[in-house]
Amino acid sequence: MSSTHIRPEVLAPAGTLEKLKVAIRYGADAVYIGGQAYGLRSRAGNFSFEEMAEGVAFAKAHNAKVYVAANMVTHEGNEKGAGEWFRTLRDIGISAVIVSDPALIAIATAEAPGLAIHLSTQSSATNYETLQFWQKQGLERVVLAREVSMEELSEIRKHTDVEIEAFVHGAMCISYSGRCVLSNYMSLRDANRGGCSQSCRWKYDLYDLPFAGERKSVEGKIAEPFSMSAVDMSMIDHIPDMIENGVNSLKIEGRMKSIHYVSTVAMTYKKAVDTYIDKGAEAFEAIKQDLVDELWKVAQRELNTGFYYGTPDENMQLFGARRKIPQYKFVGEVVSYDATTGTATIRQRNVIEEGDAIEFYGPGFTHTDCIISNLRLAETGETIDRAPNPMELLLIDVPQAVAPGDMIRKAEAGLVNLYHEETVKA
Ligand code: SF4
Repeated sequence: MSSTHIRPEVLAPAGTLEKLKVAIRYGADAVYIGGQAYGLRSRAGNFSFEEMAEGVAFAKAHNAKVYVAANMVTHEGNEKGAGEWFRTLRDIGISAVIVSDPALIAIATAEAPGLAIHLSTQSSATNYETLQFWQKQGLERVVLAREVSMEELSEIRKHTDVEIEAFVHGAMCISYSGRCVLSNYMSLRDANRGGCSQSCRWKYDLYDLPFAGERKSVEGKIAEPFSMSAVDMSMIDHIPDMIENGVNSLKIEGRMKSIHYVSTVAMTYKKAVDTYIDKGAEAFEAIKQDLVDELWKVAQRELNTGFYYGTPDENMQLFGARRKIPQYKFVGEVVSYDATTGTATIRQRNVIEEGDAIEFYGPGFTHTDCIISNLRLAETGETIDRAPNPMELLLIDVPQAVAPGDMIRKAEAGLVNLYHEETVKA
């Protein structure tokens, strides 16, 4: 592979300090977090300054970066104190702030020199003139709108050398990059000020106006409730397109997501990038299906390529398909491993039972299948059949070496039907 390719960073969401550390250990080159001011995702466990400092120290020790999202729409008076806030972030060692409101951009530029500014996707940058404009204002990077196609992305790259960040994985918004007031109406929570309650994903009965008040039926059957919930994006099998078009940062959505999700997705995209850059297109093709299969272990909706290869029609965009996939549950993590006895000490995160079929996975895309055997309490050594207590330390026999920090998941009985979110028979 040519050395002229940029190796894009894998940028993962981190809703908490624990998720920040997990994302970085599992391969994220950078993480984005929320501060306690100016951020969207007001419920996503926003970081205090102390937590940010700890996160930055951890990131630096692992050669990674921390960005802070400050992308809310500011009304009169909201911007008060922003200069001091930005200076504090800079002095903590935050690598960049992600901002959309020009008022906050002006304040950060004037009052916190040295703090890099990235334009948020909330600003809907969709053409190269827009990127050139923001570069002239001193911004280092622009996060493209999710609605940009691959062809447009390629054109944008040809006309500007400002850094480009593009979404590769996670939830799509049925509105235009979050510009929506559905949540404001339905739950009095402002989507553009961090409060989106995902009202579009609720189930609705649809009434045509002439029949208002009556449920329409089709061939005698009551129509299913309608949801505007968009499918999720996954660009895992198109990472070569992203690299060939010079994207600097591959963004994963989901600051509300679990450590199971964050570790799996960060690890998988890192594996994709490193394989394509270091080993070439053939090596990437050889592992592509494994990468796709891995992401399906944490998929919560159908996956699609968003707007990159054409504007999705109703069937592609809406969450109507009914794929049945194996259901995986995160059940624990490895605390230590004793190679002489082949014993792993694990921390329980969900019910574990003797005889469960489990999978260990770890940074670098390592996987080990195993059956839970000789389950014991770490404290007393007592043999047990079932471990129901969260965070309890347990011992199990493991046939192959595992490492501290490896995660453990188990395949649930049956398959999950993504549409109805219920377990169904195969
Ligand atoms: S309610 Fe749905 S469409 Fe509106 S901002 Fe939230 S996720 Fe987007």
